[in-house]
Amino acid sequence: MKIERDVIIVGAGISGSICAAYLAKAGADVLLLDKEVFPRDKACGDILREGVMTHLARLDLVDRLDENSTLLRRLHVMSENGSESIIPFEAYAAPRFQVDGMLVDAAINRGAEFRDGCRVRKLIVENGWVKGVQIRERGVDSEIRGRLVILADGAGSVLSGDLGHHEENAERFTGSGTYVGERAYFTGINLEEVLAKGQYNAYGAFGFHKKLKGGYYWIVPSGRNGVKDGYCNVGILYDSEEQKNVKASDIFPTLFEKNKRLAALFLGARQVSPWKRAKLQDVTAVKHRCGNGYLIIGDAGSIMMPFLKDGISAAADSAEAAAIAAKAAIRANDFSAEYLREEYVPRVEPDAGRLKFERITAESLYDVTVSNPMIARMVNNPTYTDRVLGEMFK
Ligand SMILES: Cc1cc2nc3c(=O)[nH]c(=O)nc-3n(C[C@H](O)[C@H](O)[C@H](O)COP(=O)(O)OP(=O)(O)OC[C@H]3O[C@@H](n4cnc5c(N)ncnc54)[C@H](O)[C@@H]3O)c2cc1C
Repeated sequence: MKIERDVIIVGAGISGSICAAYLAKAGADVLLLDKEVFPRDKACGDILREGVMTHLARLDLVDRLDENSTLLRRLHVMSENGSESIIPFEAYAAPRFQVDGMLVDAAINRGAEFRDGCRVRKLIVENGWVKGVQIRERGVDSEIRGRLVILADGAGSVLSGDLGHHEENAERFTGSGTYVGERAYFTGINLEEVLAKGQYNAYGAFGFHKKLKGGYYWIVPSGRNGVKDGYCNVGILYDSEEQKNVKASDIFPTLFEKNKRLAALFLGARQVSPWKRAKLQDVTAVKHRCGNGYLIIGDAGSIMMPFLKDGISAAADSAEAAAIAAKAAIRANDFSAEYLREEYVPRVEPDAGRLKFERITAESLYDVTVSNPMIARMVNNPTYTDRVLGEMFK
């Protein structure tokens, strides 16, 4: 039997589920597929900043998030040589298996069909047009055809790679734009009472180190009992071209050697999940957004920038932009690359000047010869703290 759908979305992470919810709500016939069986884990720092909150509010998920998260109100910024300061910062932190589960529910409740444990093996491409997907589900191969395919299959998207446009118009300013991140959950971390006062008044720690070139490390209480149980998401991110084979399990002990307060946080702590590793490419590394019959969103389209254009919010924004473009394409019955580019790309493409400025600012902080004196200066100077680093982390 030949199956036809309006829209097939490959990947039910942040971008795929939000896009499916928006499109289904607008009346489109949406099929959302994921290779994993849900709820599934995903390597992430769990920080949900204000950008994604607009989408969660529209999907009526704020109360559910609130029940399952810690609200961070400050960030403890640590330099490589041991100075530290506290800056204002506001974000929710919740494990991805919970957040992504809520988003999938939102898509289903609005009418999308969701099939997990369903791997898209290949795109069906005919005469330069993407026409559908070849899937493997419970050991059985089949194909599903759609008018539009939205690729939301995450960082290092194999499927967008198959389309052969990687590295198109890349805009490199500094660094390689290619990162590796790794994180694990710990319990029993000694979050100091003075600084972390329960679910709604917590702080996270964020630091720079010369061994994490082009990146940083973090310790973030996550989930409803993050502070109560010292349940924290702990991780590292670094530029994978600048440095090779860095392991979080090797890095953290060396951080403790220099920073005794950091070491004290971990006294009595217990690791409760394995380290989980993932690759990332930022918006300066790849620029491939659409083609005949398809759109690329979220990490699959490399639209984020660690530290500045947080991945979850950027993925959510691109999901909304794709839903708007897909609705217009369905109405116009035009799924050509030209039409999709016009409707989608201006909504996700960052301003080149601002991007360059932000990237250079971030790269400067990653450089410990800049961040060491900067953080040392912040320690006794609240105006500097708020105005300089506080602004950057907003
Ligand atoms: C270590 C680390 C820490 C991070 N910390 C943060 C943070 O604290 N805050 C933040 O905002 N961002 C963070 N990010 C970035 C953030 O995780 C991503 O930007 C975000 O998850 C992107 O969402 P997405 O929907 O594009 O992709 P994903 O969430 O990766 O979802 C992709 C989905 O596609 C599915 N899939 C893949 N291939 C197929 C296939 N062939 N067939 C079917 N399904 C498929 C996968 O199973 C997955 O569910 C971090 C990233 C890393 C690696």
